[in-house]
Amino acid sequence: MDEKYANITKKGDNKNFCTCVDYECACNPAKCSLGCTPCVAKCLAENEIPACFFRKQEPDMDRKQDYTFEGFANFTLKHKKQG
Ligand code: SF4
Repeated sequence: MDEKYANITKKGDNKNFCTCVDYECACNPAKCSLGCTPCVAKCLAENEIPACFFRKQEPDMDRKQDYTFEGFANFTLKHKKQG
């Protein structure tokens, strides 16, 4: 495993890097001890991309986004950093 991920030693550790701010969501690692699994399962079932992939590109983004695969592609193209 890559050394920069070595501090992730158990499944609940992703609450330390999850950037999702929807703390009402039962799948948020801040509330759920099962790590990313419920979030990813929910997104896969709904054909959506998890919020962390959006916030990686735009940390202060509005929560109202199109989380579909197509929406993520458009978001990425719109927020693509130059250079
Ligand atoms: S997959 Fe979901 S739970 Fe995991 S870091 Fe991303 S937004 Fe958070």
